[in-house]
Amino acid sequence: MIRKTALLVLVFCLILILLGAALAQADGGLAVLGSSVATDFPTRLDFNLSAASDVSITDIRLHYIVDQRGYTQVTSEVYIDFTPAATVAEGWSWDMRKTGGLPPGSRIRYWWTVVDASADKIETNPVQLQFNDDRHAWQSLTEGMLTVYWYEGDEDFARKIMTTAQDVLARLAESTGAKPEDPVKLYIYDDAQALRGAMIFPQEWTGGVAFTRFGTIAIGIAPGKLDWGRRAIAHELTHLVVHQMVFNPYNELPAWLDEGLAMYAEGTLPPTFADLLVEAEDDGSLISVRSLSSPFSAYAEQSTLAYAQSYSLVEFLIHNYGQSHMLELLRTFRKGSGYDQALGRVYDFDMDGLDRLWQGYVFPD
Ligand SMILES: [Zn+2]
Repeated sequence: MIRKTALLVLVFCLILILLGAALAQADGGLAVLGSSVATDFPTRLDFNLSAASDVSITDIRLHYIVDQRGYTQVTSEVYIDFTPAATVAEGWSWDMRKTGGLPPGSRIRYWWTVVDASADKIETNPVQLQFNDDRHAWQSLTEGMLTVYWYEGDEDFARKIMTTAQDVLARLAESTGAKPEDPVKLYIYDDAQALRGAMIFPQEWTGGVAFTRFGTIAIGIAPGKLDWGRRAIAHELTHLVVHQMVFNPYNELPAWLDEGLAMYAEGTLPPTFADLLVEAEDDGSLISVRSLSSPFSAYAEQSTLAYAQSYSLVEFLIHNYGQSHMLELLRTFRKGSGYDQALGRVYDFDMDGLDRLWQGYVFPD
């Protein structure tokens, strides 16, 4: 079944967008005759160009920019390896299995430069392309900053997703003051396996991903699994909005704050997590806030405890100091502040102080 789908995909996706003859012409005989791109989501993009001149064409380069949040716009340049000739038809394949993938709906702007032996040079007009997951028939629904894309289930299902996502944004604004700064795209695959099929090297457990620099979330939710879906949407949407808000070139958010806010947005802490917290307190194995600032352990139990503590730390900060302080903390991190400095500035304690106060709050004597 999967293989059959993959074949269909190839057939559909290799439809070329031809831009017609004589795309660009220099004063001499140099002319670009055609330029096209074929997409095969999620693994490759094939760029093709044909050009002719009355002398040999000696240099062809492809230039492209991926539309994402960044500190500086990065233009990639690809030198095409070819034998000089008066007429050329060349191409380049972007193999994402080598470079890492892009989320569905990513926008890429590209253009070519061609030079011939008389030093005539052509630069084609930039073309905008969207790297869509054409294997599914997507429908979309937009409300404010959010667009939901889905292909399985009826419009009622999509509306429920939209309502869930809008509720998450409202609660996030209420508890932390964080709001989306750029439009957000929410791609709903029909299960976790379909989602993993849209990614290059997915993690085994991936049920949802926030591509924060692209303003894109992808989640696998079957129309009958909305309850699980609600938590996943809250989690990933919070990561996305918070990352948009603190985006800076100097420092990342401490992991406990990033994951804690996402867990807090999901709702109350599931009992399995809460039980782990109590056990860890009992046997003195709580993780320090300082350790929780780095990426979490890969070991399942340690990682569950790390998430539980992160939730609890965020709950402690919001419950005791309110929205205005959390908003101030996020704004301080946006400036690239260090972890102790940011806490000190907003709450008047450092990571060790947070540890002590939090333990006194969660486990009073
Ligand atoms: Zn997370």
